[in-house]
Amino acid sequence: MRRKLAAGNWKMNGLRADLDELDALARAHPAPAIDLLICPPATLLHEAATRVAAHPLAIGGQDCHIETAGAHTGKISAEMMRDAGATAVIVGHSERREDHEETSEQVRAKARTAQAAGLTAIVCLGESLPQREAQNTLDIIAGQLALSLPDNSTAENLVVAYEPIWAIGTGKIPTLAQIGEVHDFIRTRLERRFGAGVGRGTRILYGGSVKPDNAAEIFRTPNVDGALVGGASLKAADFSQIITAL
Ligand code: 13P
Repeated sequence: MRRKLAAGNWKMNGLRADLDELDALARAHPAPAIDLLICPPATLLHEAATRVAAHPLAIGGQDCHIETAGAHTGKISAEMMRDAGATAVIVGHSERREDHEETSEQVRAKARTAQAAGLTAIVCLGESLPQREAQNTLDIIAGQLALSLPDNSTAENLVVAYEPIWAIGTGKIPTLAQIGEVHDFIRTRLERRFGAGVGRGTRILYGGSVKPDNAAEIFRTPNVDGALVGGASLKAADFSQIITAL
């Protein structure tokens, strides 16, 4: 059985004072039945991990460099994140693919480095609105899956997050049938590529405008194993309701 995962992506939000939200989350869910993960900005990683060290709430990073170390001013490696207390890292987010022109090959290299550093790679993929309107969604997803996921991934060190670009931060979400279609498709592809064990064990998250009032119905969709939440993960009160809905 796949254990559900509620993951929060704080993006470029959060100052040290906001770590009080983590304390509130930990207090609200002392013994969660699902996995909980918050990915704050890199500046907060170590303090966040220290604060929740006694709680099952895990801490993750956002993006990492392809290499372990070296002359790359301003970049952060997966090993550094691990050292700061992270257990996972988000790679291939559409904000990286679009704003930084990251290719799926680069995403795969980042995911591989993250896994080698002992982190779970949360690999994001998803179609744009023009791609959906042209009915190319499954082709786009197939291509991103084929190129973005490292070979030899396991159900422990890989999580796939389906995030339709047009649903991120917009308040628009696909229909449940559309979410189900893509998640079923991803499951089939994972089974075909990695075999039944890894294919069935790998968690597939939905991301894009998940809120307290739509979380429950999204989570009832088959092959949705949790959520990657942006805006609604910033406040413990909101994220807590999403956790409860899972
Ligand atoms: P929102 O939940 O703010 O739409 O963001 C989703 C997302 O991009 C998570 O990675």
